[in-house]
Amino acid sequence: MSAEFIFPPPLCPSVAIAQDARRFPVRRIFCIALNYAAHAREMGKEPATNGDGEPPVFFSKPADAVVESGATIPYPTLTHDLHHEIELVAALGRGGADIPAAAALDCVFGYAAGIDLTRRDLQAAARNAGRPWDMSKGFDHSAPIGAISPAAVIGHPTRGRISLSVNGGLRQDGDLSDLIWSVPEIIAALSRNVALAPGDLIFTGTPSGVGPILPGEQVDGAIEGVGSVTVSIGK
Ligand code: MN
Repeated sequence: MSAEFIFPPPLCPSVAIAQDARRFPVRRIFCIALNYAAHAREMGKEPATNGDGEPPVFFSKPADAVVESGATIPYPTLTHDLHHEIELVAALGRGGADIPAAAALDCVFGYAAGIDLTRRDLQAAARNAGRPWDMSKGFDHSAPIGAISPAAVIGHPTRGRISLSVNGGLRQDGDLSDLIWSVPEIIAALSRNVALAPGDLIFTGTPSGVGPILPGEQVDGAIEGVGSVTVSIGK
């Protein structure tokens, strides 16, 4: 007997897949903080050293924060300092708990370019007050993402340019080889926190050069060998 809902259940958020009419259904969105040394420094933090036993820091966004590449989104409420963070996104086709790093890539369906939009002023205020900064990260439309390129087609990128421009002006320009925690290491660590599942997206952190986006501006991100993402901010 199927359950009867008191109102129609929400549609499953989803992401486009390159060269495929089918969609990738999104279950959850996990993100990793401070995964490039130069970005940690620009945020006033000493970069973590992978291998010192310190696990990476994770946070989440709601699944329905995903935004299709090419969309125009409203400037978010409650902020005067909306920031861009271009990131490699790993899209999981398989899950599990306590996944060893050596087996982690078997879980990855593909990769995309995503933007971790951030209400930086709210994040700073929360951090200074010693409070959680969920609302600086997990707001509506906070996860624009381009089409997912299947790993079966592009492999598992470990190097390549990751860049972002605002209205054509280059703001972020890094390389995937500068990730402090690699994708397999991230999946292994995250799967010790929660049991991962098909449909989970993992934003893997941003290189340096984060900064503000103003109403009316267009943001273009690209990752060599992976794909691109574009989003415009409404006036
Ligand atoms: Mn980020």
